[in-house]
Amino acid sequence: MTDRTPTQEDLDTLSLQLGRPVRDVVEIPARCRCGNPLVAATAPRLSNGIPFPTTFYLTHPTITAAVSRREADGVMAEMSQRIQEDAELAAQHRAAHENYLQERERIRQAAELEPVWEIEGISAGGYPERVKCLHVLVSHSLAVGRGISPLGDEGLDLIAEEWTPEMCTCATAWDHDAEIPTRDLSRHVRRLEQQDDE
Ligand SMILES: [Zn+2]
Repeated sequence: MTDRTPTQEDLDTLSLQLGRPVRDVVEIPARCRCGNPLVAATAPRLSNGIPFPTTFYLTHPTITAAVSRREADGVMAEMSQRIQEDAELAAQHRAAHENYLQERERIRQAAELEPVWEIEGISAGGYPERVKCLHVLVSHSLAVGRGISPLGDEGLDLIAEEWTPEMCTCATAWDHDAEIPTRDLSRHVRRLEQQDDE
């Protein structure tokens, strides 16, 4: 599990991928075959106190753009409609929602945070009834592996011409030489700073 722990290099890469400083990232749950982050896992309560339900966030620009194109194609409305009509799919989608909450709970405990009551039972992306953000579902599938979120897995299938786990597009997906957006608000670093103060 150690490779899930973000290094300073990971945090810098995330900031370059997103073009903004990342904060409160506690895990890298999915990586490119080359090792660069694909997904960031964020603490369920940010260090400024704000509850944060979106545990998994897609950071790799190639995947983000490909998923955005599928969203623009109208995939979310079509998926939401199928959830309404297909009881088996609806049950799997609801189970994926439960898994999302379990993963967030695991991450909360790993980050040594108190329970975040404001977002209890609330996940993200339209779970458990609909699909409102395909990025959330795809990042969930990348983070926990296939077989948990059927529509996240389907999202991966839909972008397979542009990205698969066998591909590494990192060299051209973001500007590696750009100045790193002002760092660094991760819990890890903050905790170290607090320890220094004591
Ligand atoms: Zn790569």
